[in-house]
Amino acid sequence: MSTYLTSNIANPTHDLEVPESALAIGAHPDDIEFGCGGTLAKWAAKGCAIFHLVCTDGSKGTWDSNVDGDALAIRRQQEQTEAARILGGTVPVTFLGWTDGELQSGMPQRAQIVQAIRRLKPEIVLAHDPWKRYRLHPDHRHAGFLATDGIVAARDPLFFPELGTRHRPSKLLLWEADEPDHTENIGEQIFKVKLQALKAHASQYESTMGINELDDETQMAAFEEKLRSRMSENSLNPSGQLAEIFKLVAKL
Ligand SMILES: [Zn+2]
Repeated sequence: MSTYLTSNIANPTHDLEVPESALAIGAHPDDIEFGCGGTLAKWAAKGCAIFHLVCTDGSKGTWDSNVDGDALAIRRQQEQTEAARILGGTVPVTFLGWTDGELQSGMPQRAQIVQAIRRLKPEIVLAHDPWKRYRLHPDHRHAGFLATDGIVAARDPLFFPELGTRHRPSKLLLWEADEPDHTENIGEQIFKVKLQALKAHASQYESTMGINELDDETQMAAFEEKLRSRMSENSLNPSGQLAEIFKLVAKL
């Protein structure tokens, strides 16, 4: 293990004070539920306003070459809306609608993120870590950079002055982090909510959850077990409690 990882893991932080509002920015429908669904559900249950923003239409999220991309995009919007509702989030979800697999982190996309941050005024932003090494999917990388670059532009008045009053979130949590240093502990009840929200993404059962029969309880139980062990076995949280792990960026 490299030195910096050891030093970060030596002093992890746990459980932020529940914010008043949080905006999660994901590349595809279902990324937010995987990355931070438990944290959002935990905060929502304590009165935090939760907002979802999804950058792409998810139209390539299948292993079935016969699936119609436009129909899949519509289905995934419905699934994402239902998942957000299950977590206790605010609907409608903000969908930017960029084509799946072709997301860019240029100025038009950054302007949309600035607009969302200034409109929703989140205290905390949650997003993909764009610096995760060896990440292959470009949409995850671009969505991460849109979140980090969007925060910088949203907080200063001379960036996009036509897009409303500046807003500076207080913290950024990056999931699937290259150098994780923070955990949000999740109780059994909230774990079940995260699981329910993931199950709302039924079009993704085969490609992301390893389930190819919708009513196969054995496969569903195996997915639950895999998720449970992924969330309980991490060196930042030696108690073995269920947790989501992040890189915490506290000075924005
Ligand atoms: Zn994704």
